[in-house]
Amino acid sequence: MKVLVIGAGLVGLALAFRLRQQGAEVAVVDPEPPGEGGASFGNAGAISSTSVVPLAMPGLLKQVPRMLLDPAAPLHIPARYWLRAAPWLLRFVAAARPATVARAAAALDQLQKLALEQHLALARDIGAPELIATNGNLYVYRDEAQLAKDKAGFELRRSYGARVEILDRAGIDALEPQIGPAYRIGVFFPDHGHCASPARYGRAVAEALLRAGGEIRRDRIRALTVEGGRVTGAQGEAQHHAADEVVVAAGAWSARLLAPLGYRIPLETQRGYHVNLPASGLSLSRPITPADRKVFITPMEGAVRVAGTVEIAGLDAAPNEARARLLYDDLAAIFPEARTEGASGFWMGHRPCLPDSVPVIGPARRIGGLWFAFGHGHLGLTGSAPTAQMLAPAILGRPANQEFTPFAAERFA
Ligand SMILES: Cc1cc2nc3c(=O)[nH]c(=O)nc-3n(C[C@H](O)[C@H](O)[C@H](O)COP(=O)(O)OP(=O)(O)OC[C@H]3O[C@@H](n4cnc5c(N)ncnc54)[C@H](O)[C@@H]3O)c2cc1C
Repeated sequence: MKVLVIGAGLVGLALAFRLRQQGAEVAVVDPEPPGEGGASFGNAGAISSTSVVPLAMPGLLKQVPRMLLDPAAPLHIPARYWLRAAPWLLRFVAAARPATVARAAAALDQLQKLALEQHLALARDIGAPELIATNGNLYVYRDEAQLAKDKAGFELRRSYGARVEILDRAGIDALEPQIGPAYRIGVFFPDHGHCASPARYGRAVAEALLRAGGEIRRDRIRALTVEGGRVTGAQGEAQHHAADEVVVAAGAWSARLLAPLGYRIPLETQRGYHVNLPASGLSLSRPITPADRKVFITPMEGAVRVAGTVEIAGLDAAPNEARARLLYDDLAAIFPEARTEGASGFWMGHRPCLPDSVPVIGPARRIGGLWFAFGHGHLGLTGSAPTAQMLAPAILGRPANQEFTPFAAERFA
């Protein structure tokens, strides 16, 4: 069976690798080098297995109007993009309904429950086990009032069996003593992990895929080709890529590829930024998130990475350096002593976001041989290995032991 995977982000690469391991003839196609063209290259590295709480929660929605008026808030939508963003935002608000939140949490739990184990297995199978660390993630809060805003989320996680440990300042010091005194309460997720280099992870999966006999092609897909209700491949700028099965795993660009086939999928990019600090003076063991700043500070190979901010401004606008610079304020708030000399340039990536925070995974119901694997939003590193594990057997026609309905594209019809 010939499978074409469109998109060499971590979702596409992990899936291609698992498909190849299970006997498929696989090619991944992307105009950029594997793992470098999208969000997978520069994310914050957190593997947040118990993050079953969708973004659209009533508590967060209450904070949105204030955020929109504050250019330094964690969420920013430039005024020129308000009209374009409005339909997506309306769906986002609607997704905060209790029944939708409950459905989303169940789907995210189904996908991510074993994420850390699945990443450990993937890293081992590609010969790079050192890439995945299992030291948990730590969120920190200034006071009880701030903590109270996230309580509903913690309860939701706990209802799915997550361990959520509340720490006092002594507990924070025992894990990460360099955290500044303003943060008095910690919430520790011992079942989370992190990736020490998302870029090297992507490259290592790609190399393992090539070693196993898979193919990586450099081309930009312009259109999927369909005959008699069945996909026949994809037309790139350089050539036609014939295939029996085609997987759209093009991150935030996926909806554009599907629109000509009649799919209207509300996929919006939430742009985020990072900066790497090679001489920060910080010695950290795990990703740390100051909850008021919604930013991740993660120990990575050779640098501490500060990653975060959400900017809804579309796929085509240039990066906004003023937004990226806020990462320095976020860092100073929690680590007043951190040093920034030798910092990398700012990087921007596109989180592929659906209003209910649940990715689209599984078969296209209307077109034979077409599969979806996109829309993992803020959790696409976490969800990549699980998506591969879930989807590969289904594409190969084997018992998948998984229910795809919660992830179906048709839920937006
Ligand atoms: C600042 C930031 C921090 C984040 N932190 C975390 C985190 O800590 N934990 C976590 O789990 N997730 C995190 N994420 C989210 C995560 O990075 C994404 O959800 C994930 O990388 C999506 O992977 P992907 O493979 O679907 O898409 P991408 O990595 O974006 O890859 C898509 C690929 O498709 C290719 N492509 C696009 N159009 C075409 C075309 N026409 N033809 C062929 N190829 C095409 C692109 O070149 C790209 O290589 C973060 C994201 C950002 C931006």
